[in-house]
Amino acid sequence: MDARLEAIRDTVLARNPGEGEFHQAVTEVFESLGPVHDRHPEFLEGAVLERLCEPERQIIFRVPWADDAGRFQINRGFRVEFNSALGPFKGGLRFHPSVNLGIVKFLGFEQIFKNALTGMPIGGGKGGSDFDPRGRSDAEIMRFCQAFMTELYRHIGEYTDVPAGDIGVGGREIGYLFGQYKRITNRYESGVLTGKGISWGGSLVRPEATGYGTVIFAEEMLKTRGQSFDGQRVVVSGSGNVAINAIAKAQSLGATVVACSDSSGYVVDEAGIDVALLRQIKEVERGRLKDYEARRSAVDYVDGGSVWDLDATVALPCATQNELDGDAAARLVRNGLLAVAEGANMPSTREAVAVFQDAGVLFGPGKAANAGGVATSALEMQQNASRDSWSFAHTEDRLTKIMVGIHDRCAATADEYGDPGNYVLGANIGGFVKVADAMLAQGLI
Ligand code: NDP
Repeated sequence: MDARLEAIRDTVLARNPGEGEFHQAVTEVFESLGPVHDRHPEFLEGAVLERLCEPERQIIFRVPWADDAGRFQINRGFRVEFNSALGPFKGGLRFHPSVNLGIVKFLGFEQIFKNALTGMPIGGGKGGSDFDPRGRSDAEIMRFCQAFMTELYRHIGEYTDVPAGDIGVGGREIGYLFGQYKRITNRYESGVLTGKGISWGGSLVRPEATGYGTVIFAEEMLKTRGQSFDGQRVVVSGSGNVAINAIAKAQSLGATVVACSDSSGYVVDEAGIDVALLRQIKEVERGRLKDYEARRSAVDYVDGGSVWDLDATVALPCATQNELDGDAAARLVRNGLLAVAEGANMPSTREAVAVFQDAGVLFGPGKAANAGGVATSALEMQQNASRDSWSFAHTEDRLTKIMVGIHDRCAATADEYGDPGNYVLGANIGGFVKVADAMLAQGLI
């Protein structure tokens, strides 16, 4: 890392002790930015990096709610409003027991650059709670969401901060959150949340967008080597929103997705994952992946273990951060891997990224490859602002063009900075320069 940047990075780490994922995300971005600071000394003079690493506002709050047995439960809520240089803070809410301030800050930091890469007018933020939705009834989920919004409402708004979903937060939760916002504020403010239902201000393609976008990005990477998804053997981690839609899109392009996972294990289905069955189990019944095995022939369910033990030509990590380490990456490379596109945020450890890049594997980092979700959220905001609703085909076409644009911008930036094919460098520099220019133009704030 450039020595000037390393000194700033060390200060950031010291100021934010115990936030391992945030440290990792900051370090990974800083490692790309040395050459930018040679060309743009004004960024150092304007303390852009120091300002970028300090969120504009961090909110931590108590979420008190009652479970079905009438017992009082207390969770912790977070919203980190990281950077609004390009637009209102924008980023999802995560409900998962692992959520803490460091995780929310890593996600919010990544979101700044991701949102800049989309070319849309959105800043970066993220939030969530250590609430565990697993095993909770609909009524408990509703009461939790209402309690969460009872504090969050005062910090958000269509021109201020626009949350969306992430792990554990899908259409059901966005509905309860929106209902409570409307009740408290007495405003039907569609643009305050994205990921809404179609009949009340949502956008077609938003549920599919992150997974579809990840595959579109990967397809563009494959094209640079004269390849495509057609005939590829694909392994996907996760079986949530991003994973399911990535599987659907990859198979529609002619690939066979032979496996996917949840936090308990993985299924191997050599004939190709049955997407309709997977949706039924995960989205309708809210069941576990294990249920897939009994309902389809010639399927193996592996309890525990790692889906990355399987061989694949394309890997799509779509579950969670740091789920794919250096050893798993080396195994995948030995087994003939061509490309990785990250549907999840930071699913590959720094060691894994180094293994992929050293082996010449096409590697699309999450902040570029999974930007289709937030880009389509910005399209939802456009539709809300104009009281319009677009067709599936039109919205999908916009998503495709945005993803191809992100791919091309990352590739062109990597070329410009002398490291062709390095999408990590291209994404970090491409996103950073846009935000840094806007921050300088807006003065010391
Ligand atoms: P979901 O809650 O719909 O699904 C998450 C999936 O990942 C589930 O299969 C879950 O398994 C698995 N998972 C979660 N945590 C762990 C863990 N600690 N270990 C192993 N498996 C785990 O979330 P999404 O699909 O929305 O999000 C997945 C990833 O994509 C996240 O990194 C998110 O930040 C990222 N992302 C999501 C976007 C979106 O639009 N939704 C946009 C951009 C990025 P289980 O059910 O067993 O917990």
